[in-house]
Amino acid sequence: MTDIDPRTYSPEGTHLEGRFVLVTGAGAGIGRAVARAFAAHGARVGLLGRKIEPLESLYDEIVTAGGPRPSIATMDLATANGPAYFELADSIEKEFGRLDGIVHNAGILGVRSPIAHYDVGTWTEVLHVNLTAAFVMTQTLLPLLQASADASIIFTSSGVGRQGRAYWGAYAVSKFGTEGLSQVLADELSATPIRVNCINPGRTRTAMRRAAYPGEDPLSIAAPEDIVAPYLYLMGRDSRGVTGQSFDAQ
Ligand code: NAP
Repeated sequence: MTDIDPRTYSPEGTHLEGRFVLVTGAGAGIGRAVARAFAAHGARVGLLGRKIEPLESLYDEIVTAGGPRPSIATMDLATANGPAYFELADSIEKEFGRLDGIVHNAGILGVRSPIAHYDVGTWTEVLHVNLTAAFVMTQTLLPLLQASADASIIFTSSGVGRQGRAYWGAYAVSKFGTEGLSQVLADELSATPIRVNCINPGRTRTAMRRAAYPGEDPLSIAAPEDIVAPYLYLMGRDSRGVTGQSFDAQ
């Protein structure tokens, strides 16, 4: 296990067969590529996002490619309340009877602004979507994950979640919080089969990256499809026992 490099991990196509995993922010960017890769490796995937159309088009892509039929859950993490999380847990239990993993991928950038002028409402929203929603979802779905023999929770970090950088405001702070949440939870679950880790995707060609770096040549950075290897590694059996770590996808 120790000689595997998660960044170049390349498992066989049936690697995730029999598993049901949830991906948040599955409609676009990194989440879409990760959900597609999980399905291509045999997982049934719960596609969670706030808009139905991109989730339906991904559903069609997966089925057309011969992947296991996914499931769609629309949920706006900025406004979802307690009952919405319990409904999600109920529907997963009724439809699949299991949950083997979650990728907390959904996130927003907020604004690039000095702390001195950072808008308080934007601060609250970014912290809520990027951090608090992942906490509440994990807490609500934990009983289902505890029933799996081999569950994996993946949080999404960032370079600015490990070293603070000017003007990254609430986004950076939310990612520091995400690293902390991942470590605390990993420690609490260390005596269980549930592994908990973070992935920092690195510079990746998505709408969020474009918003943060409008002048950058998109072709100079990785496509979402290029960075799925560590997600496949952490969601599959080869990462059993790997917990409390933070990985770089590039
Ligand atoms: P993206 O293309 O903007 O995709 C973000 C996804 O999150 C979209 O599917 C979006 O849905 C969803 N989302 C946003 N707000 C939501 C809400 N309130 N409720 C439900 N879903 C919501 O960004 P990305 O670059 O793929 O980012 C994915 C993750 O990687 C994020 O956590 C980001 O912080 C992290 N990351 C990215 C990079 C990079 O270079 N791209 C680098 C480091 C870390 P909609 O389509 O409805 O907006």
